[in-house]
Amino acid sequence: MSLTDNCGRPLLNLRISITQRCNNQCAYCHREGEVQRANRSAEKMTPEEIVHIAKVAVGLGISRVKLTGGEPLMRKDLPEIVAGIAGVPGLRDLSLTTNGLLLGGGMAKKLRESGLRRVNISLPSLIPETYRKLTGGKVENALAGVEAAIEAGFYPVKLNTVVLKDVNVGDVPDLIEYAAKTGTILQLIELDPINVSNKYYSAHHRSLEEQEQMLKEKAVQVEKRPFMHNRQIYRLPNVTVEVVKPIENREFCMHCTRMRVTSDGKLKPCLMRNDNLTDILTPIRQGASDEKLKELFVKANTLREPYNKSD
Ligand code: SAM
Repeated sequence: MSLTDNCGRPLLNLRISITQRCNNQCAYCHREGEVQRANRSAEKMTPEEIVHIAKVAVGLGISRVKLTGGEPLMRKDLPEIVAGIAGVPGLRDLSLTTNGLLLGGGMAKKLRESGLRRVNISLPSLIPETYRKLTGGKVENALAGVEAAIEAGFYPVKLNTVVLKDVNVGDVPDLIEYAAKTGTILQLIELDPINVSNKYYSAHHRSLEEQEQMLKEKAVQVEKRPFMHNRQIYRLPNVTVEVVKPIENREFCMHCTRMRVTSDGKLKPCLMRNDNLTDILTPIRQGASDEKLKELFVKANTLREPYNKSD
């Protein structure tokens, strides 16, 4: 049995931000909607605390956990965090979103052995200059990360591409081809306005209608993921492409099944808001019982509401 909010939306997913540190500086980054702390170098939550939160969540029917950040691989103790969460009875899915830069050198394999089953890798472009301009990093390192993930046996490996007007829209066909060639799934993501300036947003936001039209024409099958924002999945003859369209999309919000945990241990009901957070880390440190921690989740769940509301 899962918790359901006041709009009837089940709570099935937990997205835990485990650090604010990152080795890329993506121009478009929403930073999971978090306010950036002055001192980002010290981690706020220990592996035990992160696993504890996940355990309480799973006890309430949340069966899917995603680790994010910042860049989760900046934490040396990531394998420990993964192993702890993967071992929680009742968990059905544990995944990681990463820029992939540090997946090489045996790390992908180590995470696979720790119990991670799948990864999403941010890949805004295949063109070195565009990738560097957008992220500050080297695309060859990200691609080495994709290869390492595939080799380690993660399945599926998804490639996350935030599509930006006048920057990487033209790269989409090559990214589709790359996904087909590598057996990965491409996710095309509409730019979210959070933590980016109005100027950046208006210069680079672009609806994904054109891409969807092209995908519709090529698809042999189109599906929806009702528990993942009702997002569309286009199955082309040789590749799958998912389209994530959060902007002014009531369907997207009505099918949101997520709660977030900020990197400093606060339950965050919505990416777009910071005015309704519930501190869970302090009670953990004060020795609160799991029943008390469950109550905090229940309270945070009552604060969940669609950002884009239905009439
Ligand atoms: N560093 C990790 C990474 O690159 O995946 C995890 C953090 S990143 C914030 C998590 C995901 O958010 C990535 O897939 C990224 O593409 C997506 N993302 C970042 N900024 C975004 C924005 N403004 N709008 C939509 N998606 C965004």
